[in-house]
Amino acid sequence: MTKRFDLVIVGGGTAGWMCAAACAAKLDPARYRVRLVESEEIGTVGVGEATLPQMKDFNDYLGLDEVAFMAATQASFKLGIEFVNWGRQGDRYIHPFGTFGRPIGEADFFSYWARANAAGRAAPLPDYCIAIAMAWANRFMLPNGAAGDVRNAFSYAYHLDAFLYARFLRLWAEERGVDRVEGRIVTVERDGESGGIASVTLASGAQVTGDLFVDCSGFRSLLLGQTLGVDLEDWARWLPCDSAVAVPSARSDDFTPYTRSTRRPAGWQWRIPLQHRTGNGYVYASAHISDDEAAATLLANLDGAALADPRVLRFKAGRRRRAWAHNVIGMGLAGGFLEPLESTSIYLVQMAIMHLLTLLPDGPAIDPALPAEFNRVMDVEYDRIRDFLILHYAANEADAPLWQAVTTMELPESLHGRIEAFRHRGHVPAYRDGLFGPTSWQAVFVGQGIVPRTGDRLADAMPDDVLAQRLDGFAASVAKGIADAPSHAQFVARYCPAPAL
Ligand SMILES: Cc1cc2nc3c(=O)[nH]c(=O)nc-3n(C[C@H](O)[C@H](O)[C@H](O)COP(=O)(O)OP(=O)(O)OC[C@H]3O[C@@H](n4cnc5c(N)ncnc54)[C@H](O)[C@@H]3O)c2cc1C
Repeated sequence: MTKRFDLVIVGGGTAGWMCAAACAAKLDPARYRVRLVESEEIGTVGVGEATLPQMKDFNDYLGLDEVAFMAATQASFKLGIEFVNWGRQGDRYIHPFGTFGRPIGEADFFSYWARANAAGRAAPLPDYCIAIAMAWANRFMLPNGAAGDVRNAFSYAYHLDAFLYARFLRLWAEERGVDRVEGRIVTVERDGESGGIASVTLASGAQVTGDLFVDCSGFRSLLLGQTLGVDLEDWARWLPCDSAVAVPSARSDDFTPYTRSTRRPAGWQWRIPLQHRTGNGYVYASAHISDDEAAATLLANLDGAALADPRVLRFKAGRRRRAWAHNVIGMGLAGGFLEPLESTSIYLVQMAIMHLLTLLPDGPAIDPALPAEFNRVMDVEYDRIRDFLILHYAANEADAPLWQAVTTMELPESLHGRIEAFRHRGHVPAYRDGLFGPTSWQAVFVGQGIVPRTGDRLADAMPDDVLAQRLDGFAASVAKGIADAPSHAQFVARYCPAPAL
């Protein structure tokens, strides 16, 4: 019998168990052996609670039952992120998981809106998006209706307890053949010839050898960073927040189908409603506020009683210079970190897993083309999210030293070009790979106060009165589309109620 390819996943946080579950679902056990090493003593970060709609694709890809998954993770629905006091103090907008309007003739809806808006004849952009209307009405329904129906013009993501998600996936993956190895890794042995990793040794003395190692060891980056010395490309010059303080609070009556991000003098605060509690955190730049002040600000701005002591976490914004080096692939926090302003970390794990499954070598000899392609696509993913996050910082009122610094900083060329193209005629070039799509950029540009001077020329031909009719008709269909939707709380209680913990 030929030897099976030995895949070793180091770390059992969200990243490790997502990877293990995908391998269990898709790899032939006769050819691939999958083991996961984790240490209960070390634990996980477990604060990633807001996700993107792609997570539903991941769960569907595994074949998970949505109701069982939501009940097991105390999950709620998410239609987007509400940004409060971003752009200008007092402003409020939503980055939705849904489209604005629908294409009319040759141009996209946004171009018509931009033209009418420049002439003072359009309603605010959110009026044309069902995801936003539903979110602000605190209602929820699953997408439904015929193609082209406004009730189909959105998608959704989840708020979930990341710790429970890892536990759920662990049971699922173990049932499908993944071996879990408990123990703290104390040494890592390298192969003298290739320079790659040969094995890891646990405190018990047990040794785990492998052909390919997936490093999901969290911020430590035990294999990729510490052992192979692949360092982090530091993006602090654009994304100055380096700390977060997190605390759960009692569930409040305001059970929103969206995440809230509120800008604060030294960063921003998140609010994530789950079925059993609300997750909260203040992401901040430690150069501008002390840990104690940040914790006090967070505790003073909860809408339910705190359920634990605030917990401080440190991080660096950036990605490893190579996500795949020798026979090690870094995923999750071991591969890089971008603050959770747009809930992208779990998405990045998902993308790394999908690319790994596509590029997985057939045997221990790794063709250099495979890591090269993996690193190219992961770099693209990180770089695009980075630009999108920077946009939130750069387009703001400078009302505190942190905000003065970020609103005058030099932007990456890639972002500068996008901002100018948008100001000119509302153009948002669509990416072939990676996040985010044009609707997301339009929502954040307009929400942060960057509005095009006019629309695309393709939208010029329609007479003003016809355009006004079209816009009014669409806004009316949005309002009508949510009329029968139950409240978010009612929908969750009926569809996926979670057990009391
Ligand atoms: C403040 C903050 C907020 C976040 N919010 C979001 C969000 O809203 N949405 C989102 O998508 N993401 C979010 N994230 C990111 C998210 O938490 C992580 O991406 C995700 O949980 C993956 O973590 P991980 O599995 O890479 O690492 P970890 O959870 O740290 O897991 C590391 C694993 O490695 C193991 N390990 C480490 N060293 C050893 C050793 N020596 N021996 C054996 N085992 C070892 C540990 O036991 C653990 O099992 C947030 C992160 C932070 C810091």
